[in-house]
Amino acid sequence: MNKFIPLSIPNFEGNEEKYVVDAIASTFVSTVGGYVSRMEKELASFLNVDNVAVCQSGTSALHLSMVDAGVKPGNVVLVPPLTFIAAVNPVKYQFATPVFIDCDDSFCLDPVKLRSFCEEECVWNDGVLKYNGADVKAIVVVHVFGNMADMESIMDTAEKYNLKVIEDATEALGTKYTDGRYAGKFAGTIGDYGCYSFNGNKIITTGGGGAVTSGNSATVDHIRFLSTQAKTDPHYYIHDEVGYNYRMTNLQAALGVAQLEELPEFIKRKQKNFDLYKSEFEGFKYGKLIDFRSGTESNKWFYSIEIDREHVKASMREIIISLEKDKIQTRAIWGLINEQKPYEGEVTYKLEKAPYYAERILNIPSSTQITEEEIKYVADKVKQLLEGLANG
Ligand SMILES: *Cc1c(COP(=O)(O)O)cnc(C)c1O
Repeated sequence: MNKFIPLSIPNFEGNEEKYVVDAIASTFVSTVGGYVSRMEKELASFLNVDNVAVCQSGTSALHLSMVDAGVKPGNVVLVPPLTFIAAVNPVKYQFATPVFIDCDDSFCLDPVKLRSFCEEECVWNDGVLKYNGADVKAIVVVHVFGNMADMESIMDTAEKYNLKVIEDATEALGTKYTDGRYAGKFAGTIGDYGCYSFNGNKIITTGGGGAVTSGNSATVDHIRFLSTQAKTDPHYYIHDEVGYNYRMTNLQAALGVAQLEELPEFIKRKQKNFDLYKSEFEGFKYGKLIDFRSGTESNKWFYSIEIDREHVKASMREIIISLEKDKIQTRAIWGLINEQKPYEGEVTYKLEKAPYYAERILNIPSSTQITEEEIKYVADKVKQLLEGLANG
């Protein structure tokens, strides 16, 4: 193989250039313009929701959700330890306190541990859940790698304890339930808030960008208002709340509208590529391709190999560097957020699966452009390497 095989790169096979040039020609390049409203309408239509507010990043989408949810200094927010740190940082932006709850085998929030934390570690007092005297306000649920969290159980707990649910669907645009109470519902459209990201590595990209939706249309309007400096009057500069400069620009949205046209095709390719990897890793002893939750149809954004640590002792760094020599880009799953400097000393609850997977999961190339031949090559090289490390 002569070509470098990247982990996850953008795909611009559609109208991207055309729409961006059109946006420039219109002179509307900032936060006002036709593409911004089109992006909101078309994303809402894809997700089958009434209202979407687009913004500058997935991080700003999460931050605005947290502001709207009323997360205040000293409040507690329940968060995952094994995900990208941007899912948790907005808790700190609000001077609130994260409590890290373990994941299950989908890498998403463990609903059983979430429940037992609320029942056994907290006090239910007059409609407010208290932990160590602080109000527990919200849960951040991340749909990791395009997998869906167990939303039925999570929503039951959230309803019982009056907690806001902020879905981080930044990796799961297009993932939906096919069975159960939420059949037909997309990731990000079940909780109180659903956040999306259009960063360069996500399933569609606007360069940088994000979006928020909610079942409550007025909530989305409020978030849009906050994202445009909370300006109250069309003619005068009057501001009744602290606002943010978080709105998506027309240039970003031009890219986004073109990407949305291709989203169904991207999802199809990701699903097909996953099936191909699956057959390649079938029966392989030293590494297992992790599947997605049954009863859902995942966008299959990212693929994960669980390394057999009984036999393969090499570090992730060694594995990644070896594969780089074969022109294959891979990466280790994230380091635990509770072990990162800004989070040292924060409370963790029954972390078992998160540290287990943190040292076992390797992500392999998943771009929509990857060819069948490249997938076979990647699978062969990964298998050869792990087998060699297991036996050597
Ligand atoms: C990408 C990502 C984010 C942040 O999105 P940005 O658009 O990069 O700000 C948040 N959470 C998770 C899980 C992500 O993967």
